[in-house]
Amino acid sequence: MYDLIIVGGGPSGSAAGRLAGKLGLETLLIEKEIFPRYKPCGGAFSEQAVSYLDFDVSQSVYERDVFGARVHFRGQVIEKHKEYRIATTVTRSVLDNYLLKKAKETGIEIKTGETVIDYKENEGYVDVYTRDNLYKAKFVIVAEGSSGRLKNKIRERDKKDEYSICIVTEIEENNETIDEYIYNAIDLHLNVANMGYGWIFPHEKYYSVGIGGLAKDLSNPKNTMMDFLHTNGFNGEYTLRGGLIPVGGIKRNITSSRVVLSGDAAGFVDTFSGEGIAYAIRSGQIAVEIISRILLSKNKLSSLKDYGSNCEREFADNLKYSLMLARMTHRFPEIFFKIFTNNSDVIDKYLEVLALRRTYKDYIRWLLLSTPKHLFFK
Ligand SMILES: Cc1cc2nc3c(=O)[nH]c(=O)nc-3n(C[C@H](O)[C@H](O)[C@H](O)COP(=O)(O)OP(=O)(O)OC[C@H]3O[C@@H](n4cnc5c(N)ncnc54)[C@H](O)[C@@H]3O)c2cc1C
Repeated sequence: MYDLIIVGGGPSGSAAGRLAGKLGLETLLIEKEIFPRYKPCGGAFSEQAVSYLDFDVSQSVYERDVFGARVHFRGQVIEKHKEYRIATTVTRSVLDNYLLKKAKETGIEIKTGETVIDYKENEGYVDVYTRDNLYKAKFVIVAEGSSGRLKNKIRERDKKDEYSICIVTEIEENNETIDEYIYNAIDLHLNVANMGYGWIFPHEKYYSVGIGGLAKDLSNPKNTMMDFLHTNGFNGEYTLRGGLIPVGGIKRNITSSRVVLSGDAAGFVDTFSGEGIAYAIRSGQIAVEIISRILLSKNKLSSLKDYGSNCEREFADNLKYSLMLARMTHRFPEIFFKIFTNNSDVIDKYLEVLALRRTYKDYIRWLLLSTPKHLFFK
C-alpha cells in the first residue's frame, strides 16, 4: 500500500513526486512513456515556473533568455523588450526528463513505460490498474495532462469551447539566422486560426513554430498551420504534431474523496497566453501539501477539498482574469487586436503580466481605462 500514486511524469507529476519524496511519503509515480519523450510545446518556460522549483535548472535546460515580444497583426508589427528576463526557452523532452530525475533523487519509485488504464476508489484506499499490474494507495494524483481520460471520472469532458487545439513543429536553423530574425524575443501572430494565435519561438538551433485556437473555431488545424508556415517563409517538409490545451479559469470539479487532478488534467492554464507549465508544477505541489497534512498531521480526509481553494488562492484568480481577457478579445476582435498593435505600452504592460509583475486583473483595468487612447492615438 503506497501513501500516494501519481499518474503522469510531466511537470505536474514530477513536481508532486519530488515534494512527496522530500516529505517522506511512500510514493509511486507511473508514466506511460519512456523518458526522454517528445511533448508538443512552444517551450516558453516562465520565471514564475522557475520560482516554484527548489533547485537550479539553468545550466541543464535553458536555451535562450526571452526579454521581449514582437506582435504581428494584419501586417502591423510592434516589438517591446524589458530590461529583465521574462522567460527562457526549453526543449520539453529535456526539461521533463530533468524534472523527473529531480523527483527520483528524493527516493520515490518511478515506473516508466506503464500506462494506468483505470482506478477505483474504495473505503480507505484506491486501486490503480495498469495493463499488467494492480497497485494500491491511500491517495492518487492524476497528472495525466490534457488528453488523458482518467480525469473524466471526476470532471466532465471539456466542450469544444473549453479547450484549444494546437499544431506545432520544430524547424532546424543555425543560431546566427535565429539571432538575426528574433534573437531574445518571442514572435506572436494575432488572429491566426480564427481568433487564435501563431508563434515562432527561438530555441537552440531551431524554431518552435505553432498555431492554436479554440476547438470550436478551428475546423482544419492542419491547413491553418500550413498557411501559417508558408506565410512566414517556412516551405520545407515538417513533422506536425498536435496537442490540446484546456481553457483555464473555468470552475471544474478537481477532487473526489481520495483522488486529485493537477496540471492540465485540472485545467490550470493561462488561457490568454497558453502557459501551463508553471501551474502544472505548483498545483502538483499543492496537492501533495494537502495530502501530506492528512497523512502526517492527521488532518481530516474531507480537507482534500481544500485543494481547490488553495489553488484558487494562489493562482486561480489570475487564470480567471486571463480567461476574461481572452473572451473580451474573442468578442471584440477588431477593437482588441487594434489596441494590441496600436500602442507599444499595451505590449510593454503585458510583458509585466507574463513576468508576474502585474496581475491580469490590474492589466485589464488599466487596458479598459486607457482604451480610447490606444484606439485613436499611437
Ligand atoms: C502545442 C502546445 C504548446 C504549448 N506551449 C507552452 C509553452 O510554451 N509554455 C507553457 O508554459 N505551456 C505550454 N503549453 C502547455 C503545457 O504543455 C502544459 O500546460 C503542461 O505540459 C502541463 O503539464 P502536466 O504535467 O499537467 O501534463 P503533461 O506535460 O502533458 O504530462 C502528462 C504526462 O502524463 C503521462 N500520461 C498520460 N496518461 C497517462 C496514463 N494513463 N498513465 C501513465 N502516464 C500517463 C503522459 O505521457 C505525460 O508524460 C503548450 C501546450 C501545447 C499543446
